[in-house]
Amino acid sequence: MKIFFRVVISLGLIISLVSGVVIYQLHKFSKTQVIFLNIGQGDSILLTEGDYQILIDGGSDGKLLQEKLSRYMPFWDRTIDVVIATHLDDDHVSGLVDVLKNYKVHEFWYSNTKKDTDTARALKFFINKFHIQTHEPIYGDKISFASGANFSVIYPIIRDDFYKNLTDANQTSITGIFQVGQEKFFLGGDLPKEIEDRLNLDQSITVLKAGHHGSRTSTSELFLDRIKPRDTIISAGKDNKYGHPHKEVIQNLMKHNVQIFKTYENGTIIYSCSDKCKISFGL
Ligand SMILES: [Zn+2]
Repeated sequence: MKIFFRVVISLGLIISLVSGVVIYQLHKFSKTQVIFLNIGQGDSILLTEGDYQILIDGGSDGKLLQEKLSRYMPFWDRTIDVVIATHLDDDHVSGLVDVLKNYKVHEFWYSNTKKDTDTARALKFFINKFHIQTHEPIYGDKISFASGANFSVIYPIIRDDFYKNLTDANQTSITGIFQVGQEKFFLGGDLPKEIEDRLNLDQSITVLKAGHHGSRTSTSELFLDRIKPRDTIISAGKDNKYGHPHKEVIQNLMKHNVQIFKTYENGTIIYSCSDKCKISFGL
């Protein structure tokens, strides 16, 4: 009898412990969050609300990416609803190979496929193996969260022959605006300034992810004048070999009174949003 009661009490304790953890996690992940993951040199941005996630790019290190994702997703959630590869440079997509292997991915969005690298071939292999639905988005494509927050694509405008034959992968970066409440996040991979300056954007932006890791090839003064960002995120590795971010870009941002956050200094940068978004920092 004694053993029976011990078993019942232990089971009871385990069940309450597990439900406590689940309730805590449900609360923690209920808000809409925009998370600039600290994955070294490269980009990886997680848009999340409850158990729904969009992952834009995955940096270059799959192990590091998975470690970061596990911090910012509920532990039982092994599904990423949409993965977006802005373009096929390794510092944006190498890490995604492990994501395709280890998570259930419903949809994979990508830009032009001219690039023939080991990573591009590995992505293709796992997309076929797991029958992942693919999509080449254009202007107007939109993904909405239950709260109404949404990601809408603003570039490419059309996938004409000109676009398909672009040989500079940066110029093909899928670009979109994530809107939550009144706050808007501009997310544009490594899009260069000659395209940024021509985007059809008649709105100010709350948070700009600086194009191409703060390189001088993106983020012109004209662009800053047009979109008037309050904050800028620079996603780059400490002491990276490219010298990102360039000091002209930092100077221009300062001249425009933009608050600057850098993954290599601030770590992972998290905006937690209800009507307004609050910034915090993590590992
Ligand atoms: Zn890049």
